[in-house]
Amino acid sequence: EAADRYLTVNNIEVIYDHVILVLKGVSLEVPKGRIVALLGANGAGKSTTLKAISNLLGAERGDVTKGDIMFKGTRVDQMTPNQLVKRGVIQVMEGRHCFAHLTLEENLLTGAYTRGISRAELKQSLEMVYHYFPRLKQRRMTQAGYTSGGEQQMCAIGRALMAKPEMILLDEPSMGLAPQIVEEIFEIVKDLNQSERVSFLLAEQNTMVALRYADFGYILENGRVVMEGDAKELAANEDVKEFYLGLS
Ligand code: ATP
Repeated sequence: EAADRYLTVNNIEVIYDHVILVLKGVSLEVPKGRIVALLGANGAGKSTTLKAISNLLGAERGDVTKGDIMFKGTRVDQMTPNQLVKRGVIQVMEGRHCFAHLTLEENLLTGAYTRGISRAELKQSLEMVYHYFPRLKQRRMTQAGYTSGGEQQMCAIGRALMAKPEMILLDEPSMGLAPQIVEEIFEIVKDLNQSERVSFLLAEQNTMVALRYADFGYILENGRVVMEGDAKELAANEDVKEFYLGLS
């Protein structure tokens, strides 16, 4: 039943600059309360899929030319990114994008701007973020530009949380980070999923790590879903191990 569905991407095609066909009919689903991993090599189309969902393709001269995207029974592929944030879906972009000259705390505060809330609510949201990211609390007065890559990734996720999303699209959270920090971030993602009921769609090249934390996975190759399944089954699949272990 369509109305019971949470996020569904139905057979979308994406073209950049009117000619470059990058997604060739991608379908996927994120059920409420789940962590879903979108996997595949560099250039497979993971970022493009996330940006199609969050309506961030326009800035890159990309268009969804076929298919549709539904969130809780409503078509969302014609909305602006801000309208989507208000409906509860927010993207954390690849490369983290914290404001280097603002402190970590100021960066977090910018995440609440769509909500128009009182100081008390703002403080409550900050405390919630600091509960999950104690490192951000410790370093809250430090300018983001002087923090580590891991702290900047935490800042980016924390800022998204300030918008009180029910679903986060997370692009390549492990990028450029040491394995121990990657684990720390995925543990927090799992914790947010279980304690705050935030759903996640995460794009990752780090296949095996992502599959340890996700419930379900899709593997993209050249703009198409070539495999999908329960995360544990995918992680145990010989083809997946052979093709993707080397990439992580
Ligand atoms: P990555 O890990 O590098 O982000 P990805 O799986 O997320 O890889 P995309 O970034 O979605 O892949 O890119 C998919 C394809 O689309 C690539 O061939 C890429 O060169 C192309 N592409 C991405 N952005 C644009 C753009 N703005 N204009 C033209 N082509 C683009």
